[in-house]
Amino acid sequence: MKNSIIFAGVRAASCSKVSKIIEIPELDGYKLPVTIINGYDDGMKFLVTASIHGFEYPGIESAAELCRELEPEDMSGAMIIIPVINSSGFYGRLPYICGDDEERKNLNKLAPGNKNGTFGERLIAYLYDEFVSKVDFHLDLHSGDATEDLCNFAAAGNAPDEETRKFIHKVINHTGFEYYTQSSGRTEFYNGSVIYKGVPSMMFEVGGAGKWTRKEVVEEKENIKRIARYFGILPGQAELNVNQKWLKTQSWIECGHEGFFYAFVKAGEEIRKDQKLYEIRNVYGELLEEHYAMHDGKVMIINSTLGVSEGDDAVFYGKAE
Ligand SMILES: [Zn+2]
Repeated sequence: MKNSIIFAGVRAASCSKVSKIIEIPELDGYKLPVTIINGYDDGMKFLVTASIHGFEYPGIESAAELCRELEPEDMSGAMIIIPVINSSGFYGRLPYICGDDEERKNLNKLAPGNKNGTFGERLIAYLYDEFVSKVDFHLDLHSGDATEDLCNFAAAGNAPDEETRKFIHKVINHTGFEYYTQSSGRTEFYNGSVIYKGVPSMMFEVGGAGKWTRKEVVEEKENIKRIARYFGILPGQAELNVNQKWLKTQSWIECGHEGFFYAFVKAGEEIRKDQKLYEIRNVYGELLEEHYAMHDGKVMIINSTLGVSEGDDAVFYGKAE
């Protein structure tokens, strides 16, 4: 941007990059690493966040590497990157939850946050006020956490109006993902951005089961750059993905029992209606429940842990239209 920009009190002059660990007074000095890359010319402001879930590594590594690799001389507009939002979850190796939260809440269930709430609720409210509400687009990076095998996909934020929905889909259509979905959620951090702040938003789901690979990070960084090129922030031609499929029919199935989980399919597998996807047995081997596919489609997420509790995510499969 031709002028300096300020996020959370950190100023980045025109054509400069500032990396800083912010200490948030409202959160007892909680430390948040932020990189602001302010380009030489005016343009869109693009926020990339990771580690809402601290066990979701490909996005966290991708965001951290982009903080080091992107340079303002190449950019019109700005990118603001927060690679580790949930430091207790990431460094403390905690699936899903925020260890700093008094009630160990899941930060992805707290939109729009609450300034008088628990630590996690206050952190989310802070992020909306200081970052999300000041940008033109928000991308949140996720994975299958420690507990899920996953086939990579992008998800559009749950925009209340048709025009914003179409815009987000168009952004996704310029990524390399083979599959994408339309979220209907309301509590997720990225969904809250468009629902409560009117900022178009989406997420990536890349990798899972507590792992990350160099290939995933290389592809994920390229997909973030493809969006930045589509916005005109980075130089180069935006590339439309003509082979992308929208999984319009979605089935998200939760475990109905505590028990031992046995999957009969893998993430990425094509399935037929009535095909058996998983079963749950008790410690004595007695069958508690089993699930048969309600429609044809593709397994996008399947639980990878042996032990499960009632209400845990079991499987997500979708059908392209
Ligand atoms: Zn996640």
